[in-house]
Amino acid sequence: MMMVKKMSPFEDIVTGLFDYPPRLCWMRGTCAMFICIEPDGDVWPCCDRTLPSETYRWGNVLDKDLSTAIKSRNAHVFREADKKRQSFCMRCEWAFLCRGGCVYHRIIQSDAADAPDPFCPAYQKIFAHIAGRVDEILSWV
Ligand code: SF4
Ligand code: SF4
Repeated sequence: MMMVKKMSPFEDIVTGLFDYPPRLCWMRGTCAMFICIEPDGDVWPCCDRTLPSETYRWGNVLDKDLSTAIKSRNAHVFREADKKRQSFCMRCEWAFLCRGGCVYHRIIQSDAADAPDPFCPAYQKIFAHIAGRVDEILSWV
């Protein structure tokens, strides 16, 4: 039996072209829905990456309960930044696939979560290339 290996984000891009929802957080536009609780109790918005500034630490569950961290000022700042990334990308033809990229990327690039994702030019080339190939393949059938 042939094994089919799933390749993200390639798989998410191809299925996204057919309106299937992606699995990757940065393609879902739902970054601010994630919560990371580190072994030391610190609460951060993202488990994948360590954010460089205390500005993005929401609290610590050993000091106060989780709902306090979720309602903290830092959590509010992060959610607002997440909303801004989506408004920045609203006019992009690839917004339906990308939804603004990764907030972490822009924070480490410019310490501004509402700045453009530094990989944006690469995303645009990759989306255009894959969409072109998918169109070509569909023209064969
Ligand atoms: S910061 Fe990036 S990697 Fe982390 S949850 Fe948000 S979109 Fe995903
Ligand atoms: S490709 Fe660039 S402009 Fe378009 S949605 Fe993604 S980050 Fe925004």
